[in-house]
Amino acid sequence: MMSKYRLMSPGPTPIPPEVSATGALPIIHHRTPEFGEVFTRVGENLKRVFMTRNDIFVYAASGTGAFEGALQNLFSPGDKVLVVNNGNFGERWAKMGRAFGLEVTELVYEWGQKADNAEVADALSADPGIKAAVCVLSETSTGTVNDIEGFAKATENVVTIVDAVSGLGACELRTDEWGVDVVVAGSQKALMTPPGLGFVSVSERAWRAHQEAAMPRFYFDWTQAKKASQKNPPQTPWTPPVSLVMQLDVALGQILDEGLENVLERHVLLGRAARAGVKGMGLRLFGPDEDMNTAVTAAWVPDEIDGKRFVNTLFQEHGVQVAGGQGKMSGKIFRIGHCGYFDAYDIIATIAAAELTLESLGYPVELGKGVAAAQRVFSKSGVAA
Ligand code: PLP
Repeated sequence: MMSKYRLMSPGPTPIPPEVSATGALPIIHHRTPEFGEVFTRVGENLKRVFMTRNDIFVYAASGTGAFEGALQNLFSPGDKVLVVNNGNFGERWAKMGRAFGLEVTELVYEWGQKADNAEVADALSADPGIKAAVCVLSETSTGTVNDIEGFAKATENVVTIVDAVSGLGACELRTDEWGVDVVVAGSQKALMTPPGLGFVSVSERAWRAHQEAAMPRFYFDWTQAKKASQKNPPQTPWTPPVSLVMQLDVALGQILDEGLENVLERHVLLGRAARAGVKGMGLRLFGPDEDMNTAVTAAWVPDEIDGKRFVNTLFQEHGVQVAGGQGKMSGKIFRIGHCGYFDAYDIIATIAAAELTLESLGYPVELGKGVAAAQRVFSKSGVAA
């Protein structure tokens, strides 16, 4: 049986046809009024999605590059930073901080657990020398969303840095209202654009830290980016990936046409339905069963089944590409991405295919139970009644 390709990973994610088509348009020169018009609109619309009035810089880099740039721009070697590590990406930022000569205090939680913001506040009071604190909004490796509003309160006296690579546009993140100084994101998740663009938003307080920061930097230098952004029309200091910026323009337009609050609400339903579907087919969730978990749903693969085989079979037999576990959870869990261009039927199809996969691997499953549980979420909401 022919099966359609369904990309259900937490990044890269599928992109709308209009965004794909835009990628096929001729390249325009980046120092022209035509590109300036696009880049101006992208800048304004990014601010709406980031919910900020702060500067936002756009890099030809993945999210990791934009994050590396943030460290270079904010710190001097030997500076102290607190990093919440409750998954693969928190762990990455702690490692990266050390690679850049920072003194990293790590608050480590079991994968699948949320950060405890009272402990964050305690760690900061215990060491007044700490200049900044890092937390991941949506820890993609575990499907766990941290309480960033609480984190920003706990860290109000230091520079607050949030990795929103998979969270931005899928999880609530009120950058200015909550007082988040630096938000890092990427194009390939809820922003419905191919991989390749990294973003960073920079508050006044972060700018002050930048003025004192002595870390060597060049490509990611915020001062260069700011100078270029102040030209009329705004520019980037180096050649931007023109096609990606044009694609992002279309994707942001679609997000804002749907309405950011509606987009976030849709993600609440997608998460709720994915969790209901997983539980309905008799599997255990990995990570909290909470409406906050809007971007990624992670679940244990039953002990009797090899996790990699489950993910491969789901893809080979049904065309549904979910992600396996990362790092120490490799082969043990699978992750369904639903941040970005996803609707009710993407979740229902994924659950249906997962049920068939469990059955073909010999796991006792009652076909349709997970599907019905997912459908019920949408039916109750009136979305797919
Ligand atoms: N942070 C989170 C939460 C992520 O999900 C990812 C990518 O999956 C990254 C950081 C790294 O981003 P990139 O792969 O764009 O460098």
